[in-house]
Amino acid sequence: MSLPGPIDPPARLLMGPGPISADPRVLRAMSAQLVGQYDPFMTEAMNEVMGLYREIFATANQQTLLVDSTSRGAIEAALVSLLEPGDRVLVPVMGRFGHLLVEIAERCGAEVHTVDAPWGTVVPLEDIAAAMERVRPHLLAMVHGDTSTTMMQPFDGLRELCDRYECLLYADVTATLGGNPFPTDEWGVDAATAGLQKCLGGPSGSAPATFSPRAVEVIEARRSIEAGIRADGDPVTAHPIRSNYFDLAMIFDYWSPRRLNHHTEATTMLYGARECARLILETGLAANQERHLLHGNAMLAGVEGLGLEVYGDRAYKMANVVGVVIPDEVDGEAVRAAMLADFGIEIGTSFGPLAGRVWRIGTMGYNARKDAVLATLAALESVLRRHGVAVPSGGGVDAAYDVYGTAA
Ligand SMILES: *Cc1c(COP(=O)(O)O)cnc(C)c1O
Repeated sequence: MSLPGPIDPPARLLMGPGPISADPRVLRAMSAQLVGQYDPFMTEAMNEVMGLYREIFATANQQTLLVDSTSRGAIEAALVSLLEPGDRVLVPVMGRFGHLLVEIAERCGAEVHTVDAPWGTVVPLEDIAAAMERVRPHLLAMVHGDTSTTMMQPFDGLRELCDRYECLLYADVTATLGGNPFPTDEWGVDAATAGLQKCLGGPSGSAPATFSPRAVEVIEARRSIEAGIRADGDPVTAHPIRSNYFDLAMIFDYWSPRRLNHHTEATTMLYGARECARLILETGLAANQERHLLHGNAMLAGVEGLGLEVYGDRAYKMANVVGVVIPDEVDGEAVRAAMLADFGIEIGTSFGPLAGRVWRIGTMGYNARKDAVLATLAALESVLRRHGVAVPSGGGVDAAYDVYGTAA
């Protein structure tokens, strides 16, 4: 075997639906040296992270912490810790990540029911209400923003529904947190999980998550024998959480002042997650959401300025990603390949029913920036023209400039 050289990635501008180019300040934070797991500096940093993410999630939840995994791991931690075999779950499905919730809940042994909406729309509250009446679930599990379709599900009325049926409310906010409003407590969400690689501006590999006192009560009642022994006299259940790594009762103990060892906290990821939240709060959470809306609107206008059609119901579009209907006359993959090879810009493809039909362009985290938006639109115009699409000259960039207004 010839020894590979050191890692030296090409310069890329990641304008897909995630991951995005990480903020260099986050990468710098991640190059800081390690400390021991129980070093006072480390335990203080863990406490700081809890405080920072309470602000990002707009919650008072004590149990606001990091799950050491990508977003999918935090989804699994939430579901495996909240669900016992046989529990009924209702999942409104409007895109690919709804199907992921279904699949994970099924593996937890839950009895899973769905209420579906066509892709490109959201699930109407009446449909969810009717399904709740029929299913009487223990858990309503929702995707907030589904990057597969760019749609964002409204949460109005869900808490009232859940109260009526004494049901827990879980949300996957991976794609939306930080770039779109998600006030956890105001909306009465019991469990929410995210990831760093979308609007939070970091790399994937750490998953901020928050759990309401109601969710914590359910989880702690399932404390495992191992956790029970360690927690010294805590009650032990006959229905332990069916995962060790994702046992939130144990992870809560690890993040509590007791610091009961579970896994070794991923220190480097924690530094990164801390810096992601710190940078957002330095700007202000609301200002950060407005920044995503501004650049998302500029990209949307630019796409239309190029004469391209936007995918999905505009009324429910996430701020940070736009679906672009691929013109009939071009091969979408050839356009993506040319964007990458000639301009170093990555845009996203789609999955399932949208494969080959829709590109997805993100403006999130570090790449929710005017220069990134304008460069992407200029590149897309040139590549489309070379692929035989008649696009208005300067139409994308000009339309984006119009959104930025005189300030630009
Ligand atoms: C991107 C995304 C994920 C990604 O999960 P990873 O494990 O970090 O790849 C999960 N859920 C939603 C809604 C997403 O948009």
